[in-house]
Amino acid sequence: MATDALKNIRVRIEKAAQKLGPQVVPNWMLEYICDCEDRWSPSITIKVPNPTNPLERIPKSYKAVRVLHRKSGSADIWKGGLRYHPDVSLSQMEGHAIEMSIKSWIMNEPHGGAKGGIAVNPLELTKDVLEDLTLAFAKRAIDDGKMSPRKDVMAPDMGTNETIMDWICNFYIDYTGDNIIGEGVVTGKSVGNGGICGRKSATGLGLHLALQTFLGAKEIHLQENPTAIVQGFGNVASYFCKFAEEFKIKIIGVIDQFGGVYCPAGLDIQKMSGYAESNKFKTINGFESVSPDYLKASFDELMALGADIFVPAAIENVITTSIAPAMNFKVVLEGANSPTLADADEILNQRGIKVIPDIYANAGGVTVSYFEWARNTRKNPSNLRIRIPDNNEDDVRAALETMFRTNGAELIQISKKYGIPYREAGYALALERVSPYIKAHLRMD
Ligand code: NAD
Repeated sequence: MATDALKNIRVRIEKAAQKLGPQVVPNWMLEYICDCEDRWSPSITIKVPNPTNPLERIPKSYKAVRVLHRKSGSADIWKGGLRYHPDVSLSQMEGHAIEMSIKSWIMNEPHGGAKGGIAVNPLELTKDVLEDLTLAFAKRAIDDGKMSPRKDVMAPDMGTNETIMDWICNFYIDYTGDNIIGEGVVTGKSVGNGGICGRKSATGLGLHLALQTFLGAKEIHLQENPTAIVQGFGNVASYFCKFAEEFKIKIIGVIDQFGGVYCPAGLDIQKMSGYAESNKFKTINGFESVSPDYLKASFDELMALGADIFVPAAIENVITTSIAPAMNFKVVLEGANSPTLADADEILNQRGIKVIPDIYANAGGVTVSYFEWARNTRKNPSNLRIRIPDNNEDDVRAALETMFRTNGAELIQISKKYGIPYREAGYALALERVSPYIKAHLRMD
């Protein structure tokens, strides 16, 4: 528990445990939950083209990381994203693995959290090199006993996607010969390759379902046709924007790592998607050039201009103590993992800005991934009463809606019972749910 991110998580777990009391979360359990089960950080070496002589290939090593947090139930597996990003590190992934557990427990899913990745910028690699790196990583993970549909099930995260999941799945089946449940080794695969309808859009759609739960419970009040500003335009953010019209939300600002655009009358999301798809870096930077009504805008400018809703859906630690006092929003709907620093959270609470936390709001992805894994492996512990949907968009959406509505209602109930913000209530709900399993499993109480 070294870094600030890990310290923040520990503080959050401690606060929630205190609310529940030592009968529910005794001290030994607190220590157990604040630690991780397994950490793995090999170097993956592949041959890449020599920049000074493209005909020659030279060895290059990349740091890979995978962390398993704590198992929580009879499904016996861990689940979590695989990230390709230059900042991937062991301590960052430890924090995210714990948050993945908390998220899964809030949604009443029977697995532990995991997270991992490779420290690389995928936009700088050719498709061939990306595939070589992915398969070398998968081979090493299988050889070291770290990747299996019965143990650790990876899914897309920042910098990874359906294609990468397909590569891993096909490689796993060829390499291990597991034609029975091998498809369940990763989730977020394409539908023709063992994937489930609606997984790609699940996290973006889930953000809306989370918001609707809070609006429906009259926890949050917004004007009709509220406005939103979104950070990121990758998988999560772009699908949030695509579903916005259906939920009568107007997207007035979007910013990614290269630049931002603002238009109080609303941005044309379909055009923006086409624009991002058509350039190498998949960026919306420069999109202001398509209309005289569109203005270029920086992150600080967008935060000050404000809207009803801010959706951080890119990287962590973007809401800091310096930006929080200037943010002009009613609701923060967290699409990214850990976008808000603990001290900034306090400022948002004091300012009356409601935060629908990542550990609930962005759980659409892991939930539909769980459906996918359960279908691939034909495993869904019957005692959990999670309905695994048929493989069509409507049924997946219906099942996802039920998960958000029922678990969101419990989170709200805990927030009311203890008079605590939603994030703290999410942690408390997660601990309350996992406590009986850990007690029975470790037989220490
Ligand atoms: P992605 O790789 O598809 O997109 C990332 C986006 O973030 C890109 O638009 C990129 O330009 C932008 N970005 C990167 N650095 C930035 C910066 N410094 N400032 C502004 N924008 C920046 O990733 P994704 O899958 O959409 O994931 C986004 C976030 O959501 C991550 O925190 C991820 O952990 C979280 N998340 C993803 C899923 C999922 O199903 N993909 C599920 C839950 C949570």
